[in-house]
Amino acid sequence: MDTQVKYSPTFERTKIIATLGPASRTYEHLLSLAQAGVDMFRINFSHVNYDEIPHLVECIDRVNEELKLHIGIIADLQGPKLRVGEMKDGAIQVKKGDILTFVNHKVLGTKEAIYMSYEKFASDVHPGEKILIDDGKLLFEVLETNSKDKVRLKTIFGGTLSSNKGVNLPDTAISLPCLTDKDLRDLAFILELPVHWIALSFVREAGDIRELRNIIQQHNHPAKIIAKIEKPEALNNINAIIEESDAVMIARGDLAVEVQLEKLPAIQKSIIKKCIMRSKPVIVATQLMESMISNPYPTRAEITDVANSVMDGADAVMLSGETSVGMHPSKVVEIMTRILIETERILDYGKNRPDILPHSNTFGSDVICLNAVKTSELVDAKAVIGITVSGYTAFKISSFRPKSRIYIFSNHNHILSTLNLVWGVTCYLHNNHESTNKSIEDTLTILKENHLIEKGDFVISTGTMPLHKMGRTNFLKISKVE
Ligand code: PEP
Repeated sequence: MDTQVKYSPTFERTKIIATLGPASRTYEHLLSLAQAGVDMFRINFSHVNYDEIPHLVECIDRVNEELKLHIGIIADLQGPKLRVGEMKDGAIQVKKGDILTFVNHKVLGTKEAIYMSYEKFASDVHPGEKILIDDGKLLFEVLETNSKDKVRLKTIFGGTLSSNKGVNLPDTAISLPCLTDKDLRDLAFILELPVHWIALSFVREAGDIRELRNIIQQHNHPAKIIAKIEKPEALNNINAIIEESDAVMIARGDLAVEVQLEKLPAIQKSIIKKCIMRSKPVIVATQLMESMISNPYPTRAEITDVANSVMDGADAVMLSGETSVGMHPSKVVEIMTRILIETERILDYGKNRPDILPHSNTFGSDVICLNAVKTSELVDAKAVIGITVSGYTAFKISSFRPKSRIYIFSNHNHILSTLNLVWGVTCYLHNNHESTNKSIEDTLTILKENHLIEKGDFVISTGTMPLHKMGRTNFLKISKVE
């Protein structure tokens, strides 16, 4: 394998999300990640120091200005993640058959008493239910509970039980709210920042998304919502959750612990298809290039996993430890970009297309978007162009997965960075709203200046007429570039 990279910010249609952390916190780090092909930076509020965030946001702004990009920011809320407390000497060893007692008051952990960060643990669990710790490396079964403050567990798979490890209860209906006190504190902080997406962890039902949306709206913040799918309950309510969310993340880390792991590939394919059918962006997350946290190249299985995510139709693939704590953050992104570009050569464009619903209030513009894509195929167009205020046209055109490039123009920088998550979409700022004809001309000039179209190319323009009314997309036009 060689290390040569052909970089262009508009090259790959599938977007790359890079999680920020100690390995990616300076301007230079962010610049090289952006040059390697990152489309969105993710700030994970499970591991964050508020003091560092304003500097990160400022660096992202500088990178965007320097490279003329619209890289957006995802703020990821921890949600009701359960954890054990501090363990004696940092960790204890447990072996098959050992009996452990979990309590709900803080204590330095030993087999006799281990703190669980979840007040109602003893009243929510039942004998026979499974408890997994540290991403499923340790497995326990509930023996008995006093339904108040003590749960006895039998060890099925033992190992090292370290301080603060995550706990998954796949069999238990957890009575914690989706937005914890920590999430509410984090949200108050996040909603003062120019973030584009807020991801909610451990979503269980559509109401969780509504709760978050109410808070975002009360603050009059434009952030859109990503539902992280990582609980069996979310799978049972998946249609309603997709409907309520603006985008979905298949959070494979916790999901694979919470469901039987062999079900993961089918779940991934099914969620991606459902999201495309509802024109909602969908992200495949976790362990895509995990070995590159320390190794200079991915494994063959990881290369194939990234490619399969593209072929499944994902809008975006997400890097976690690889870019936040890994040894080769920008190299991971460079190699991922190469896999995306190569796989998109053989992609079955438009394999699954959303239906157009005659009774929906977007029927007219949906028909225009679909026909823009179909027309682009008939004339082998170089570009489908959308001029948008809300971003709706970008989500819709993208969900038809055209082979032509999608160029979206808007006069709102915030919406452009939001749309940078969406499959195939490349964004440009356009402020001139003189007339429809002038706007079409301007967009073609910008694309020509950027060498994205040239004389003789067909392009399909969509937009709204009359322009000043800022209505939904209602026209499509074929042009031959002069
Ligand atoms: C996951 O579990 O796959 C995930 C993306 O969530 P987090 O990184 O917040 O644990």
